[in-house]
Amino acid sequence: MTPKEVLAYAKQNGAKMVDFKFMDFVGTWQHFTNPIDELGESDFENGYGFDGSSIRGWQPIHASDMLIIPDPTTAKMDPFMAVPTLTMICDVVDPVTKERYTRDPRYIAHKAEEYLKFTGIGDAAWFGPEAEFFIFDDIRFDDGCQFGYYHIDSVEGIWNSGRVENPNLGYKPRHKEGYFPVPPVDSQQDLRTEMVLKMMEVGIPVECQHHEVATAGQAEIDMKASTLVKMADNLQWYKYVVKNVARRFGKTVTFMPKPLYGDNGSGMHIHMSIWKEGKPMFAGDKYAGLSEMALFAAGGVLKHAAAICAITNPTTNSYKRLVPGYEAPVNLAYSSRNRSASVRIPMYSASPKLKRMEVRFPDPSCNGYLAFSALLMAALDGIENRIDPGEPLDRDIYSMTPEELADVPSTPGSLDAALNALESDHEFLLKGDVFTEDVIEKWIEYKRLNEVDPIRMRPHPHEFKLYFDV
Ligand code: GLN
Ligand code: MG
Ligand code: MG
Ligand code: MG
Repeated sequence: MTPKEVLAYAKQNGAKMVDFKFMDFVGTWQHFTNPIDELGESDFENGYGFDGSSIRGWQPIHASDMLIIPDPTTAKMDPFMAVPTLTMICDVVDPVTKERYTRDPRYIAHKAEEYLKFTGIGDAAWFGPEAEFFIFDDIRFDDGCQFGYYHIDSVEGIWNSGRVENPNLGYKPRHKEGYFPVPPVDSQQDLRTEMVLKMMEVGIPVECQHHEVATAGQAEIDMKASTLVKMADNLQWYKYVVKNVARRFGKTVTFMPKPLYGDNGSGMHIHMSIWKEGKPMFAGDKYAGLSEMALFAAGGVLKHAAAICAITNPTTNSYKRLVPGYEAPVNLAYSSRNRSASVRIPMYSASPKLKRMEVRFPDPSCNGYLAFSALLMAALDGIENRIDPGEPLDRDIYSMTPEELADVPSTPGSLDAALNALESDHEFLLKGDVFTEDVIEKWIEYKRLNEVDPIRMRPHPHEFKLYFDV
């Protein structure tokens, strides 16, 4: 849509308000809302002001004035506002220089797309994230059974203790058996379908919805793949729709990677491919139907994986998911079909158009704009420098002995370790000024100060169980 068309679309839909959404540095959508009467074509150039110092990781207080510029191609009616409201995703701009703000994740993503074209390797990178999430009853933190480490003990306790006084759990999915019996075991069928319908209402094509492996209401909805910035926009809509539909059903949703000890965590496997002039550049006659280019791309992703994790697995909680035994990859290897490898080559279809790599370590706590950009930059680095991914690992990595695994590197053990890796390995992200040195420095500083240190310095509830009686 052009600005003119947006105004007509708003009128047609009786919009009374216009809501501006933009992505913050860390990965949460922010917004503000104006009466629509004031919205004119010139606002798509002049933008609207906001206080950039109140957004996490952005401007210092003495330079806090910032502008948002709405992107007319993203206009939709917001389905969760009682009063008809037009909404658009916005870019962030410096009011003085009128240049785009280098810490705006959407700008970084646009630059990654530009850099791909500049290299001549491709003209479009396609992404398909599978963001898993948990649906809980909306009763907050007063239920020790749902949150934290009591979960497994208490659920199994109830299960085993049987009759009369306890709720009947006959149709509750058993431990790690959520994938995926029909209702009534799957009690969230209608809720997920409602989420899918809302996504389609805002123009996001969906492929599939299903219960996931974890016992306590883990779900997955898969969107159809799209190009980098569009898919990062869609991922924000995805989270917004999923959380808001759940809220209306008296439920609450979390995308934190490991909310329950002892059960599967939530990953966000990312499917990625590069295209040029309408041709799938990852399809070829090498291993698993890949091209030489795709193998080098995998080489780049595996080489830089530890640093990428600081962006694709950016929370202290992320590393509680990346442990053996829960379908989350721990070892940095590639394979066709093998779900214990960090990079899997799906073999469902022989069609060259569907040839892609699935990067399995990312999780849904990441900022999609930054995560897709970092993966693309690592893949491009692999292609440009012909980085050999080594031999594929076509075995169940979980069952290999420590000796057999000696030469297979692993994902970082903590956010702290991932940030250290990013600190020493980020040249590949700086190419084409996609990520700037300032963005990398600020990211590391923000994460250490606000997340790593406060978690490291806080006594953990489980420490009381272990050490109270020393
Ligand atoms: N939940 C698993 C993970 O953490 C993935 C399960 C699956 O999709 N097969 O990555
Ligand atoms: Mg899936
Ligand atoms: Mg899944
Ligand atoms: Mg997958």
